[in-house]
Amino acid sequence: MIGVIADAAGVQVAAEFFELFKTSWENYREGSAYDVVLDTTGHGGDLKARLVVRYGSRRILADRDLPVQSQPPEQNGSMLVGADPFPLYGPYAVIDLAGRQEPEAVPLAAAEGGAIGYVVRKGGSTEVRLGYELFGEIRTLLSTGQPAEWAAIPTLELHIDLLRRWMAASGVEFNEVRSAPAGYRFIAALTHDVDHPSLRLHGLDRTAAGFLGRATVGSVQRWATGRLKFSQMLRNWGAALCWPTVAMGWGRDIWRGFVNYTDMESGRPSTFFVIPFAGRPGALCGAAAPFYRASGYGVADIEVEVRELRERGCEIGLHGLDAWCDVKAAEQERTEVERVATAEINGVRMHWLYFGPDSTALLDEAGFDYDSTVGYNGTVGFRAGTAQVYRPLGGRRLLELPLIVMDTALFYPSHLNLTVAEAWKRVETVVAQVVRFGGCVTVNWHDRSLAPERQWGDFYGELVRYLEAQGGWVTSAGEAVEWFRRRRDNDKSDLKN
Ligand SMILES: [Zn+2]
Repeated sequence: MIGVIADAAGVQVAAEFFELFKTSWENYREGSAYDVVLDTTGHGGDLKARLVVRYGSRRILADRDLPVQSQPPEQNGSMLVGADPFPLYGPYAVIDLAGRQEPEAVPLAAAEGGAIGYVVRKGGSTEVRLGYELFGEIRTLLSTGQPAEWAAIPTLELHIDLLRRWMAASGVEFNEVRSAPAGYRFIAALTHDVDHPSLRLHGLDRTAAGFLGRATVGSVQRWATGRLKFSQMLRNWGAALCWPTVAMGWGRDIWRGFVNYTDMESGRPSTFFVIPFAGRPGALCGAAAPFYRASGYGVADIEVEVRELRERGCEIGLHGLDAWCDVKAAEQERTEVERVATAEINGVRMHWLYFGPDSTALLDEAGFDYDSTVGYNGTVGFRAGTAQVYRPLGGRRLLELPLIVMDTALFYPSHLNLTVAEAWKRVETVVAQVVRFGGCVTVNWHDRSLAPERQWGDFYGELVRYLEAQGGWVTSAGEAVEWFRRRRDNDKSDLKN
């Protein structure tokens, strides 16, 4: 059992931290016996446990005469150097251990000019001092998240792992409910944002013009730099040539084939987030969004496909426009999708990943079960420092399913602009971390990525097979969230040491 000493703000974070590191804990009570005590206030004096871990960015009682320098946070985080480097986003302490035999520096926490931690062993117990605010760091990760430059690092999981490893090294026996279903190493949630399900609907607007440019000149560039096969380039040219017939209404609408995703997913359910209304760029909320962000369709335009997807066992979610900043709008948008889908809509992901500090509270109030917006537009990885589903701090029911891998982030020239081989490397690195720590690789492959001019369908098909081969339970966003909800509800008595 872990006893946690925290201030009022820390207690709230601790509750979520121990949903992610699911092991037995309680708020520290004087006189109770613990295997592990975490002191996040620095006030704790002589604490008796097999392992005591003291966090804090300022000098604490236990530092005695050690020179401690408190460093202010750096804008994009400062690196903790070690075998598993990870960034810190708040203030931290640099402790000068030069010339001392005792205590020894924590090997995973060195900084320039000293150590960020040290360890003291006496008798059968271990005291670890780490010079940062654990729950401050976790709060930052679960609210603001990490800047894109640290996207590849599952920082929150590394905080957990550091603690987990100290517990193991100190001989503490503990149970943990891993964040993967029995028989699997992780979960993979397949999702599709439906932004442009019909080329015909666009006439000759900005989207169609962009398509024509990228299908012709853009394709040559992609082919020349190894990002497109010759046959794919020819297919794009063909599609561009046929565009007038599509726009006039008698040629086959090449973007209308997104239902075919289900063939590549061979029976596993996936989630399609659909836009409720056409022509709304999401401008209700203060800063006006540029009109080109509006979609040319509303869910009513793809009623046939939505019904078919439901028949094939897929989940329909809301691709929200103004839902992120307006409860009324959230309810309206959801009602429209429910009307067309004739089903209850539980999940939401915002168009263009719009999100504000109040969004989770608003979506919670609007009654959604989960959101899956927290991710990056321009890169892949761990915005919240974890691939686990979590409850945003202060939330009621809403859970967040972080978005981990997105097609446009990998391949768009304005984003990572990767070749297929480079994209695989990137994806493998991310998946390896989720295999290691558990969680959910949430993938977003847009509706029209199967068609010209993108033609990212082969990559997607291989990705689905890869996720399964790596030991993933491949399913929809809603099912993934439900699994995490059951894990959260797991009877605490099962977790006793
Ligand atoms: Zn979108």
